[in-house]
Amino acid sequence: KPAIYWIRNDLRLSDNRALAAALEDGRAVVPVYIREDNGNGPLGAAQAWWLERSLEKLASRYDELGAPLVLRSGDPLNVLRAMIEESEAEAVFWNRRYSTEGIRADKAVKAALGEDGITVRSFAGQILHEPSNFKTKSGGPYKVYTPFWKAFSADQHVPDPIDAPKSLEGVAKKIKSEKLKDWKLYEARPDWAAGFSDIWQPGEDGAIARLNHFVADVVQDYAAKRDRPDRQATSMLSPHLALGEISPATIWHRINGTQSISAENRKKFLQELVWRDFCHHLLFHAPDLAEKNWNGRFDDFAWKDDEEAFAAWTRGETGYPIVDAGMRQLWREGYMHNRVRMIAASFLIKDLMIDWRHGEKWFRDTLVDADPASNAANWQWVAGSGADAAPFFRIFNPVLQGEKFDPAGDYVRAYVPELKDMPKKHIHAPFDAPDDVLSQAGVTLGETYPKPLVDHKAARKRALSAFEAIKE
Ligand code: FAD
Repeated sequence: KPAIYWIRNDLRLSDNRALAAALEDGRAVVPVYIREDNGNGPLGAAQAWWLERSLEKLASRYDELGAPLVLRSGDPLNVLRAMIEESEAEAVFWNRRYSTEGIRADKAVKAALGEDGITVRSFAGQILHEPSNFKTKSGGPYKVYTPFWKAFSADQHVPDPIDAPKSLEGVAKKIKSEKLKDWKLYEARPDWAAGFSDIWQPGEDGAIARLNHFVADVVQDYAAKRDRPDRQATSMLSPHLALGEISPATIWHRINGTQSISAENRKKFLQELVWRDFCHHLLFHAPDLAEKNWNGRFDDFAWKDDEEAFAAWTRGETGYPIVDAGMRQLWREGYMHNRVRMIAASFLIKDLMIDWRHGEKWFRDTLVDADPASNAANWQWVAGSGADAAPFFRIFNPVLQGEKFDPAGDYVRAYVPELKDMPKKHIHAPFDAPDDVLSQAGVTLGETYPKPLVDHKAARKRALSAFEAIKE
């Protein structure tokens, strides 16, 4: 009798334990993707663009292999029950997820199907180590990254990835499927994601191509250049990981197994990959990570309710070029370089004193790699309210950060074209440039490019005194 494989954020065939288990004993398989009402949190607009393309690719892979992908909408239990009846399946398999809603939904489905006499099995593979098996010596969750990494690198029990199946047996009867086009996952007018396809290739093939390119041409600069937004020095694997088009174990073993990668680059990269796990573990233990300060002291912080400033930030019109370049990269590519994410987030939280939760939501809607764990944990990290966070008083100076990490201004020029003729000496602080420099570059502050929303020095003071008030 056939098995149903329920696909969620694991849009891949390789290193897929649930799929492999479904095929055991030569069973026929019915792969299904269910558009749930709220199983994985609301899907952001940028990720909906990605999902549409990724599902299209996955459907054609399944067609080639011989078991067509079924698309259904609704409550998973109802959908699975109907499909069990239609296909006469006796078992349901899936890969585990770690968000609170996901865990709750899966538990309920497992219990109900179990009562129906259906075998249900779930598998690990979306992160390197599952939170329930990875605890401190005293049995609690890790709250600090360094010991987490130490335990992680000492343990090394990341299972070897398994190959994709070469062929699949579908069921004889045609199981009805909805049409991807009818889901209208992404249909923005105007089409703000028009530029995404220049950068991204959603789907498992795209993920593998990224990894190959990273290992062949990029990783040798990783430790030295990963903080430079003007260079292509990181893997760009995050959106593929977010929708599970590649497993973290595949990446882990590829990096560990490539002798030409220096020890320094290997360690630095794997440490970043393990941050992803750390964030998932935090979310597992603090389900409201995106809504609630990890450190409750921040509940009394005097956030400002400034809609205009927030809107300017989202549009990349703060008057601070490195922040604006980042926010515009986000519009154009659904992505922002990690260093610039930190600068832009710090600017929103500390210079504008806008609650980090507004920024978290904006990123969730606009990032193609939006991830409930990594996004929330990183926003709280920047805010200083998180577990093992950056101290609040360490406030990024957007001009100095720009000068340090985008020294020639190339990153700013790429995304803020109105500053393209500014000389590098002044590109990160056009508001301090002499008039003749501005006029030669064709820049009129307040007209062609915004004046700064705030004076950083004064804003920094204001933020620090607000922090003093909650420190006692
Ligand atoms: P690489 O440097 O090549 O790193 C490899 C992988 O390691 C990444 O793909 C990612 O999976 C993981 N990783 C790297 N840095 C981090 C980190 N700080 N935290 C968690 N995982 C990390 N990342 C997301 O995947 N989704 C998000 O929604 C997200 N929101 C963020 C919000 C803020 C405010 C900040 C400061 C960071 C956020 N990050 C998020 C983390 C990080 O910016 C991205 O993972 C990284 O920029 C992705 O680019 P890359 O794949 O080239 O990274």
